[in-house]
Amino acid sequence: MGALSTILNHNNEFVEAGDYAHFFTNKYPEKQLAILTCMDARMMELLPAAMGLKNGDAKLIKNAGALVTHPWGSVMRSLLVAVFELKVQEIMVVAHHDCGMRGLNAESFLNKSQAQGIPADRIDTLRNAGIDLDGWLTGFDNVEDSVRHTVGIIRRHPLMPASVAVHGLVIHPTTGKLTVVVDGTVKADNNDDA
Ligand SMILES: [Zn+2]
Repeated sequence: MGALSTILNHNNEFVEAGDYAHFFTNKYPEKQLAILTCMDARMMELLPAAMGLKNGDAKLIKNAGALVTHPWGSVMRSLLVAVFELKVQEIMVVAHHDCGMRGLNAESFLNKSQAQGIPADRIDTLRNAGIDLDGWLTGFDNVEDSVRHTVGIIRRHPLMPASVAVHGLVIHPTTGKLTVVVDGTVKADNNDDA
């Protein structure tokens, strides 16, 4: 059944008991860090624990695959808000092994949508209107390549200051082991703003 009533019941108890006091912080991330990662439920608690992060340490942005697919979409805007409004100086793209976006296939996705009642002629209408469903619903083949690609979009964004370090990592969804794909540490002589 739906989770809403269970969550609301818990929420009443949580607030009344003052359990929130443990989470007090402010809106500026303590470590001046923003993380773009995947929405995978295995990493709800694993990722912060494996990275040694607590409430208030970092801006956490999540989507399917830890992807920036468009330089003017909401993920890129969130990262720029983090930098200019919230004093972030370091960005980490943290994708993971065994990601559902690896090998995502538009045909199979759209078949599932039809099984849940989306009519085939609606999909045809979208295609005829010029919407590139196949491109939009394609994931990645290789997680490291995907991380490099997303780091590249962020790094080369015309509004991203050179002083912000943009790193790329892959996390193991069971052990939490991190592997660095891109070390974006900003070197002083690399800094265009200097
Ligand atoms: Zn994932």
